[in-house]
Amino acid sequence: MSVIIFAETRDQQYKKSTLEAVSYGKEVAQKTGGKVIAVSMGGASDAASLGNYGADEVITLHGAEFATFSPEVYASAFAEVCKTHGGKTIIISNTYSGKSISGRVAVLLQGALATNVVDYPDTTSGFRVKRGVFSGKAFAYVDMQSDVKVIAITPNSVEIKTHGTSASVSAHQPTGLPTSATKIESTQTVSGKIPLTEAEIVVSAGRGMKGPENWNMVEDLATALGAATACSKPVSDMHWRPHSEHVGQTGITIKPNLYIAIGISGAIQHLAGVSSSKVIVVVNKDAEAPFFKAADYGIVGDAFEVLPKLIQAAKASATS
Ligand SMILES: Cc1cc2nc3c(=O)[nH]c(=O)nc-3n(C[C@H](O)[C@H](O)[C@H](O)COP(=O)(O)OP(=O)(O)OC[C@H]3O[C@@H](n4cnc5c(N)ncnc54)[C@H](O)[C@@H]3O)c2cc1C
Repeated sequence: MSVIIFAETRDQQYKKSTLEAVSYGKEVAQKTGGKVIAVSMGGASDAASLGNYGADEVITLHGAEFATFSPEVYASAFAEVCKTHGGKTIIISNTYSGKSISGRVAVLLQGALATNVVDYPDTTSGFRVKRGVFSGKAFAYVDMQSDVKVIAITPNSVEIKTHGTSASVSAHQPTGLPTSATKIESTQTVSGKIPLTEAEIVVSAGRGMKGPENWNMVEDLATALGAATACSKPVSDMHWRPHSEHVGQTGITIKPNLYIAIGISGAIQHLAGVSSSKVIVVVNKDAEAPFFKAADYGIVGDAFEVLPKLIQAAKASATS
């Protein structure tokens, strides 16, 4: 009986969501017993480092099949490792890749699937998980009754814990991989920026910024604070900003230490992706904007007057 984690990488480094998933797996294993095994595909520069987050063992899968992400191939290979190593609790982060394999893995392992899980399971009687539903406005408590349980955890919903240990690393050669039904022809990646899901500070802006030509102020504040930039859905729909910056129900879920929202009304669909931020600061010229109800600090004012002052203050604080 093992707890097995899907360990995702970006540029050969484990993603923050992977470290959360491994930490989560360790907590689960402390309740259910069993080894914590992380499965790493496509290459990572330091597989043993996952031991620090709670993995006892890291199993790596290499080969041309794993060079680019394919849901069918990754799910099949991952499920094979889970079967071989007696995986009973399977942890996958609900990232874009995680979402596209979790259902497949549950089917391949004939297990129960719970997505959007936001907390550790309650194992006092059975195995109950807490899921975020209705865009994070409500929670559902689900009893997972099958032998194999696939848990897809929402990124940024649990803390990363370190244990100061290292994991043993071994390789696995999968058999009978399926042919991928799709082929990635090319990829475009945003480089040189702090990944939004991993940023401690996020400066985000909405339609109140009036147009893409005014985003230099948002970027200046982000640069001064060492922050990532984000935006509301209409902003990315109008191509003022790339879709990779869209946060909310239909975008990315984030949980930075500081979320600064400028000229964003605070619609429920936007809050769904940002309301777990530790501190929320809202700048809006309308004192009745719904976002103020979710804010820790609010500035009622015109963004075009407030932003230059914030940039100046952030630059001054960075140099002092
Ligand atoms: C199914 C569904 C899913 C959705 N998913 C998402 C999602 O994932 N993410 C998301 O963001 N939205 C989502 N939406 C859209 C959401 O309902 C809102 O329409 C959207 O968030 C509004 O974006 P906004 O706040 O930028 O724009 P607006 O609603 O137009 O608000 C602009 C704000 O800027 C303020 N403002 C204007 N000028 C200034 C100024 N000079 N200085 C300061 N403040 C100013 C205004 O007072 C206002 O509060 C979804 C909607 C649906 C129906």
